[in-house]
Amino acid sequence: MNFEFGAKRRDPYAWLEQSLVTIHRADWYRSVQPINGRPGATVVLAGQEVINFASNDYLGLAGDERLMAAATAAIAEFGTGSTGSRLLSGHRELHRELEEAIASTKHTEDALVFSSGYLANLGAITALVGKRDLILSDQYNHSSLKNGAILSGAAVVEYPHCDVEVLKTQLSQQRQNYRRCIILTDTVFSMDGDLCPLPALFDLADEFSCMLLVDEAHATGVLGKTGTGCVEHFGYTGKQLIQIGTLSKALGSLGGYVAGSSALIDFLRNRAPSWIYTTGLSPADTAAALAAIKIVQQEPQHRAQLWGNIHYLKTLLQHLPNLKLLPSESPILCFQLLNATDALKAGKQLRDAGIFAPAIRPPTVPTSRIRISVMATHKIAHIEKLVSVLKDVI
Ligand SMILES: *Cc1c(COP(=O)(O)O)cnc(C)c1O
Repeated sequence: MNFEFGAKRRDPYAWLEQSLVTIHRADWYRSVQPINGRPGATVVLAGQEVINFASNDYLGLAGDERLMAAATAAIAEFGTGSTGSRLLSGHRELHRELEEAIASTKHTEDALVFSSGYLANLGAITALVGKRDLILSDQYNHSSLKNGAILSGAAVVEYPHCDVEVLKTQLSQQRQNYRRCIILTDTVFSMDGDLCPLPALFDLADEFSCMLLVDEAHATGVLGKTGTGCVEHFGYTGKQLIQIGTLSKALGSLGGYVAGSSALIDFLRNRAPSWIYTTGLSPADTAAALAAIKIVQQEPQHRAQLWGNIHYLKTLLQHLPNLKLLPSESPILCFQLLNATDALKAGKQLRDAGIFAPAIRPPTVPTSRIRISVMATHKIAHIEKLVSVLKDVI
């Protein structure tokens, strides 16, 4: 076919509309909804006050006066933008302070702050492995791990969710064909709420001489005796690991980090493209994250409150046997629905009753579900209201 002189030239963008029609037809269509005011246990969503079970702000720090004060003070002192990449004009003492605070709480030799958790994963994975290497990745890993794996050019093999037996078989069959190997896993799975089998993964990594990269995005500030994450929860603090996390969930700010050995961090500063070629984290975000880390360390009561709420909700949910709850050891609780249409309907019913707990559908997850995330700042009444509404929905 001659494109230039064809009788009728086709619109090269027409497929966009057609794709949107297909997305709508499958009930996969998504759009944004505005939230007004400060984040919290209740929010005003598109004009309606709702109890918020949709937030990653597990400790309620995103609306904390002290984080806001730290951010405004940083703006007053350093302005709004970092003005350049960290290696050129974008580095501030504040960044280093934050990195030292992360390394100190995580008991790692060093840490590196990225502009988001997503970029931390892309940067670390692409720097650590390439064409001659192998990646083994949990099937339910976060998009940033999956896309980091693809972008790295390494051979990618997914293992069934948390299945260490299959992982072991894959390693014994394939490890010897590659130079370096890395195992990638979420520690708290973001759309399920369960934990990775860290001890078994650590042993396999050791046995097959693989690096192990764990994504603590939903565990930071939430799990472990001092709130540093799932690694601490399993007693693996101090072990050789690559730990990724975010500053944007329980820490209430924006940004991501990698924590690990000095050699790892030094290497990433020289080789991670999503750190080298992007603007340094803004002073406000950096200062807010630093304030949050101090609060997590000094005020364990927020974490205790969060876990109290999780246990209370789980106890109440036991009385709803029709609810297909997925296994969870985190503030993320999901119940499964037959299909996207049912999930959307349940989400809408909850919303009409004043509960914000969104439907999560493919392609984000393989099976449709309602996802509830618990916060430290939820009141008993909020949790009881959720359960009474759920009773009607199912
Ligand atoms: C949210 C999330 C990220 C991305 O973190 P951001 O800082 O929001 O970019 C990465 N990994 C996991 C597992 C997440 O849940």
